[in-house]
Amino acid sequence: MRFKRIVYRNDDSYNSNDWHYNHFNILFNDTITLPPMKGTGLLYYKGEIEEVILPKWNEPAIFLGAVKGHLPLYINCFHCDYVGVCNIERKKGVTHYLLGLATFGVSMCTTLGTDTHHYCPCCLRKVGYAKLF
Ligand SMILES: [Zn+2]
Repeated sequence: MRFKRIVYRNDDSYNSNDWHYNHFNILFNDTITLPPMKGTGLLYYKGEIEEVILPKWNEPAIFLGAVKGHLPLYINCFHCDYVGVCNIERKKGVTHYLLGLATFGVSMCTTLGTDTHHYCPCCLRKVGYAKLF
């Protein structure tokens, strides 16, 4: 019996000529686009999709922005081969408590002003975070 290995995917993210390996499109926040390249992620903010570079090896999680980056990213994880939407965790940070002081505790009952932390669902590494302060 003969086995044929089909190599359709080049993981060299520095070679931008390799976009042809994507044989499928993704639907991400009402936008049909190509899946992100290895080690990058797609960030949606106000109708626009932009590409972010995810951390490699022992690099720390990337800062996505103050007001943007609170929605799940569509990632192609550098560490594992996961391609898809990442997990988010909302934590109550400094912004949440400052907002709570300003609104006399009203906003403390909501998720307003919380920090968003993004994790790869496959290898559970933290890829990015978004917070105001
Ligand atoms: Zn991963």
